Order: sequence, then C-alpha cells, then structure tokens
Amino acid sequence: MGISCPVDGCDLRIDVIFKARDGTGYGAHVHNIEQFSTLNLFPAASSLMPEVDLHEDDAEVLSLLCKFLHPNHAQPDVSLLPWETFCKLAAVVEQYRIYNAMALCKLKMEYSVEERPYEVFQYASTTNYESLRDRAMKLCLSSHPLECFVKACELGLTDLMDEAALKTLNLPMAAVEEALRGTKNWQLTLLAWMAQREALRERQQSLLLNPTVGPQHKGGSPRCEDWHTYYSAVVLKSLKRSDGNLTDAITTTRQLVQGCSYCLKAVEMWGRNVDATMTLFGSRFPFSSFFKTYTGAEGL
Ligand SMILES: [Zn+2]
Ligand SMILES: [Zn+2]
Repeated sequence: MGISCPVDGCDLRIDVIFKARDGTGYGAHVHNIEQFSTLNLFPAASSLMPEVDLHEDDAEVLSLLCKFLHPNHAQPDVSLLPWETFCKLAAVVEQYRIYNAMALCKLKMEYSVEERPYEVFQYASTTNYESLRDRAMKLCLSSHPLECFVKACELGLTDLMDEAALKTLNLPMAAVEEALRGTKNWQLTLLAWMAQREALRERQQSLLLNPTVGPQHKGGSPRCEDWHTYYSAVVLKSLKRSDGNLTDAITTTRQLVQGCSYCLKAVEMWGRNVDATMTLFGSRFPFSSFFKTYTGAEGL
C-alpha cells in the first residue's frame, strides 16, 4: 500500500492512516495517539485500516504531527522550521492537544514575540494564552499606531484593531488614507475609520458645549466672570487643535480661573467628566463595530 510512518526506524505497527489535504498519507499508531493527544479516532478506527482525513493540514505539518506522537524517538526541532510551517504546526498541535508539542511551540512563540508580535498575538488569541497575548499586544501597540492599525485590520485581529484605531483618530485623514491604500477593502475601512472619528468628535463637541456645572458661588450664581474668560479660551483652543483634544484645552488654560475656588472646582469636575467619557468611548464605540458595518467582515 506504500503508506509508511514518517519516523526513521519506527517499527511500530501501522493501524491508522492520517491523510493531508493534498492526499498524502502517513501511517500512525492508535496506541501512541491515544496516549499523547486528544485526537478522536473513533468511530473511524472500527474498520480494518481506518483513514483519518485531516483536511486542514498540509503534508509537512502532518508528518511533523506524526513525529511528535513518538515518545521514544527524537522530537522534531521546531526551532529549525520555516516560520510559516511552524505557525501551522503550532495551531494544529493545539487543535489536537498534543501536549509535548504544544509546550515546545508555545516556548518558541514566546521567544519570537519581539520579532513577530502580530503572528504571536494571533496565536495567543486563538489559544487563550493570555499573558503572552497581552505582551504581544503591547509590543504591537508600541510600534507606530497607524502601522499597527493597518496590520491588525489586515489580519482581522479585532481587539488589536480597536486599541490601535483609538490611537489614530487624532491623525490627519490623508495619513490614514495613505497607510490603508492598497489593502483589501481599503475605501470601506477608511469609511469605517471616518465614522468612528465622527462619533468621537460628536462626543467631544457635546462635552465642550455642556461644561460641568460646579459648586454655586456666594449669592447662588453657578458661574462668575473668570469662568466666561476661561471658557472662551478653552473653546478657542480646542477649535485650533486639529485633534480636538479637549482634556488638554481644559487643563492648560486653568490658570484663568486660579482666583476663584468655585470655578477651579468646576474645571476639575469637567476635566474628570471628559476623561471618563473618553475612556468609555473605546468600549462603547469600538472601531470593529464600524468596520463590520461597512465591510461586513471581521477582518480584511
Ligand atoms: Zn511510527
Ligand atoms: Zn468663579
């Protein structure tokens, strides 16, 4: 029949065949599989020589998978594998819970996180290795935010695209357009980005037009002359800023109410209100929800 075990010198009886997507078959051993993975062979194993179609795997990955199921032979050296093959293997061994291989792949992913944060983020997200995922996410975000945003959209990394998008909303549209141009569905992605920015600006405008009222002044008035001078300065400053950063406009002009403790209090309350609203904005209006609306997809 020509089916053999990919491990050199293996004389174990072949009692199951793994078939890759391209039709390549490898002989394997039910006893080993049962011991070292959770791959469910049954009811296929009831026939004389069961065949298990692992459609998602290419032949090289399948051969590696078989080798990992041999505890008495040298294990494949994952550090020597081309990156793409390694990523496929890392996903497959997780899928079938081949524990010895899972540990090795995770270790290599941990070593590779600085060099390849996006791929490691993708791996750690699907495998739920949270601390590795968080580390990879931090590394991705620490690079250029726009680059991170585009890459996260391309790879369909929802959490990452949401975090990265927030850091790009103060950039000029032309810069975002240039970075996205050429990627799949780039016009729709840009539209989604503009829609999120519009939502942000609406909130910022509402916060600017409705400043928090502080404690009443003596005599019952909520505001004094100092406030009006201060407020005009804040409006002017926030209009001048291309990124509409209201927190900055509120705090850098506060010396104008220095003489009035009531207005100073109102400024502090307003600043806190703006910060809280802006912090919530990312979770209430995540980029991925706009992205889904316009592109109908989770990723590009
Ligand atoms: Zn064998
Ligand atoms: Zn006052």
